Amino acid sequence: MSTVVAIALGGNQGDVSATFEIAIAKIGQIPSIQMIRQSRNYRTRSIGADAGTDYINAAILVETELTAEGLLDRLQSIEQEHGRVRTVHWGPRPLDLDIIRFGDEIIETQRLMIPHPACWYRRFVLDPWCEIDDGWEHPVHRETVSQLRDRFRKRPLTFGFRNAISNSDRITIEDVAAEFAGQFQEVESIDADLWITTDSHGKPQPRTFACPSNRKLSELVRFLFQSAIDEPVPIRS
Ligand code: ATP
Ligand code: CA
Ligand code: CA
Repeated sequence: MSTVVAIALGGNQGDVSATFEIAIAKIGQIPSIQMIRQSRNYRTRSIGADAGTDYINAAILVETELTAEGLLDRLQSIEQEHGRVRTVHWGPRPLDLDIIRFGDEIIETQRLMIPHPACWYRRFVLDPWCEIDDGWEHPVHRETVSQLRDRFRKRPLTFGFRNAISNSDRITIEDVAAEFAGQFQEVESIDADLWITTDSHGKPQPRTFACPSNRKLSELVRFLFQSAIDEPVPIRS
């Protein structure tokens, strides 16, 4: 039995476009994988303090007879061949390969979260993914890839904080509003496009982002907001 799978590619070290070409060729050469479609490459400009370390992102759609775990093994060895050393989470890397969709499956194990938990709000994932798989419906959010993406194109984007964002972690709604002036609007109603909650227990509801307990909330919120509003730009080739 074969499964349609979407894979997100990212990188910000070395000649990333060249790395993508090689990595995609390697993925296509795996006997139990058939390539379906490939997006253009996108550049995501960083608007935060780390501006300059632009990322390049792309997405591919494949069909495979592998299990999700088996596919992850293959992708991780390709990452390693490109010099990926797992040190800092979210640190710079030559190549990152994430499984964003594995058929319609929902997988929540120690090693694998599918659909990828950040796929629904990261513009650098959604924009390339839209090009190759726009009509697929997210089994939890119940919106298609293009609906998910289009929601984040609105300005100002509406967001809400559910539960208190703790002051001890040095971020408040005012901080976020100042940092992303004009791009976000805080709302009290349930109609927010993006909800952030500090409650990581229980199942995240659609449009709710729960902060994992092992992450620093202020950093996470900044990264989350940035990835939801930064517009990826297709690279002309
Ligand atoms: P993020 O997941 O926020 O994009 P990242 O890609 O930088 O962060 P990594 O350091 O590349 O995170 O991976 C950490 C672990 O995530 C991997 O060892 C892998 O077991 C796990 N993981 C969970 N779900 C997935 C998935 N859908 N695709 C790839 N890896 C996953
Ligand atoms: Ca990733
Ligand atoms: Ca990864």
